[in-house]
Amino acid sequence: MVSSINKNEHKHSRKDFSKEYKEEFMKRAIELSRKASIIDKTGGVFGAVIVKDGNIIAEGYNQVKKTNDPTWHAEMQAIREATKKLGTPHLEGCVLYTSAECCPMCLAAVYWAHLDHIFYGATVDDAKKYGDFQDVDILKEIRKENKDRRIQFEEKMRSEAVAVWKEFSQLPDRAHY
Ligand SMILES: [Zn+2]
Repeated sequence: MVSSINKNEHKHSRKDFSKEYKEEFMKRAIELSRKASIIDKTGGVFGAVIVKDGNIIAEGYNQVKKTNDPTWHAEMQAIREATKKLGTPHLEGCVLYTSAECCPMCLAAVYWAHLDHIFYGATVDDAKKYGDFQDVDILKEIRKENKDRRIQFEEKMRSEAVAVWKEFSQLPDRAHY
């Protein structure tokens, strides 16, 4: 049984992205993290770039403090700029370089955007140690059962909400992504 599992894993074997890694792109991500945190002081120590076919197509840096937007993370900005530039919500063939390990929000965004790979510099533990950023704690919250989470979410008016889903499911031109 073990061999069949291994065979299956082999079938879905991942591409080795380490050969594609280029230091200049990580340097740029780290440079943007310095811009955000020390030069322009727009937010935390986070910078990111998205690379396609060996070129940077989008950049981002943390601007949470400047914009009062808690979602303005470097990776989110880079993803938004890349998808706008390419005219698609999906970024297959693109690689994210980020100066620090993604938070749960950005990691989820990477999945929504179908990026191929992530290279990161500092770890979430570094962000916690030197900046008291709470990524680790958010991950801990997400891993808990709903009933044990600090912020609760409750189901209400399901049938009314599902009525729209039913209508949507009948649309010939319904959104799909
Ligand atoms: Zn993030």
